[in-house]
Amino acid sequence: MNFPEHNRLLIGNYAHPSIDLIQGKGTKVWDSSGKEYLDFTCGIAVTNVGHCHPHWTAMVAEQANKLAHCSNLFSIPEQVRLAERLVGHIGPGKILFCNSGAEANEALIKLSRLHSPEHKRPKILTAENGFHGRTMGALSATHSPKYRSGFEPLLQDFAFGQLNHIRSFSDLADDQTGAILIESIQGEGGIHEAADTFLQDLKVLCQSKNLLLMLDEVQAGIGRSGEFLGFQKSGVLPDAVAIAKGLGGGFPIGAIWVGSDLQDTFTPGSHGTTFGGSPLACAAAHAVLDILESENLITRSRETGAQFKTALQELCLEFPDFVKEVRGRGFMLGLACVKDPASLVASMREHGLLTVGAYGHVIRILPPLNVRDDELQHALSIMRTCMSQLTP
Ligand code: PLP
Repeated sequence: MNFPEHNRLLIGNYAHPSIDLIQGKGTKVWDSSGKEYLDFTCGIAVTNVGHCHPHWTAMVAEQANKLAHCSNLFSIPEQVRLAERLVGHIGPGKILFCNSGAEANEALIKLSRLHSPEHKRPKILTAENGFHGRTMGALSATHSPKYRSGFEPLLQDFAFGQLNHIRSFSDLADDQTGAILIESIQGEGGIHEAADTFLQDLKVLCQSKNLLLMLDEVQAGIGRSGEFLGFQKSGVLPDAVAIAKGLGGGFPIGAIWVGSDLQDTFTPGSHGTTFGGSPLACAAAHAVLDILESENLITRSRETGAQFKTALQELCLEFPDFVKEVRGRGFMLGLACVKDPASLVASMREHGLLTVGAYGHVIRILPPLNVRDDELQHALSIMRTCMSQLTP
């Protein structure tokens, strides 16, 4: 499909789209011709409770009728209650709200600067193949030249270690280093999990060198990994965490959580945002948390995600020419393909299944956490059909 008006009017920073979407319900979305799709992209790990969940739309509509925005000049009761719920899910500490994943990571970078006495330890270690966003600070924390190229010079004070190799991080941790920032499961990088032992070793390293351990849970968070946040399986409590994407279930909201020891690092005037944590955004996030709890979706993500991963592994064994490995956990899964999977992704789209690519010939499988069993079976059958049709 070609969208001449789209291409005429919208800046070309995204690849030309192949379909438009105008409606969604649960796992399903429809394009303007009425064609139906199973949405296993979730707007890239955002609509974790499905599209237009009745509780979410009711809460958003109700709040829109009450007070949508008033700025952080004032106390916002929905924000205070949301902070309480997030602290309950993560650990003792405080919350700062913003609007996106990149902004949450910017706040973490600023936190680490403030924590470093007289800015003597500005360096932050992040992982090769990691992704932290497109703003200049978050981009500086992002390793791949694919995102950086054209925008250098970026912030200088970043160095990149190898995921799951503690030695490569400890070797980089010099007296200029103030923090480590890492995803618990790399999303854009192709679904690579940080091992529990690696996170535990990073915690020890950070404690021994007085570094902040900061987790980017923007993609893996809000139940997608099978825990509320992906690092929680390791038993490690970091010093600070970035969340966004799934938190608003489709309404933009991001946040950082900062543990008790650091909770007063930001002082009045040191950081701010016009929109972050608006009553409307917070109402959307409350709805998401309500649904996660009432439908037991974190457990569902962990258990049904594990069963679906096994089913994917079995399917992929039938088609070794396509997929060499199924990675990830919960409903954050990736099919690591033998070669560029563009034709498979296109064929699945044609057959009514939407997926999203990631680095390294990976197809990400990101259904909503309340995807129905029959929808999972339908997705598997579409994948089987497409792989058989494309088999020479
Ligand atoms: N961090 C991670 C791990 C992400 O996956 C993303 C987006 O994909 C970001 C940060 C940036 O989030 P946003 O696009 O909301 O700025």
